[in-house]
Amino acid sequence: MKTTLIYNAVYCTLCEETIQSYHRHDYKHCSCGNAMVDGGLDYNRWGWETEGSVINHSLYLESSPFSVIRQHFYRWNHNTQTYVTLENIDDAWLENILEWYIPSDVSRGTMNPDYLLLFLQEKLYRSEQED
Ligand SMILES: [Zn+2]
Repeated sequence: MKTTLIYNAVYCTLCEETIQSYHRHDYKHCSCGNAMVDGGLDYNRWGWETEGSVINHSLYLESSPFSVIRQHFYRWNHNTQTYVTLENIDDAWLENILEWYIPSDVSRGTMNPDYLLLFLQEKLYRSEQED
């Protein structure tokens, strides 16, 4: 079965902290040093010092409802230098992303189609909320 990561995070039960890896080389430790996570959306690598103390909270496209995906899938915002979850991407930015990446005469980049579809789905989701 195909599995596409949309959120890569683990929870440390010792310090009660959730740590998230945003990109391939984003290696994170929790504050007590027990848990680690790495790989961003490329792969879910995680570990622990104390057996059974870390819970994997990662989410996959194929096994998550869209209402959950939009709260966790994210994109880097160059202006604010922060990661923004899909549900918090403003309408204008969402339009720009779609125009930029949907293959057409005016597209200027390529994106993994699985992820591109999420931005399209978000636009559809918003149009359905307006009714
Ligand atoms: Zn910890």
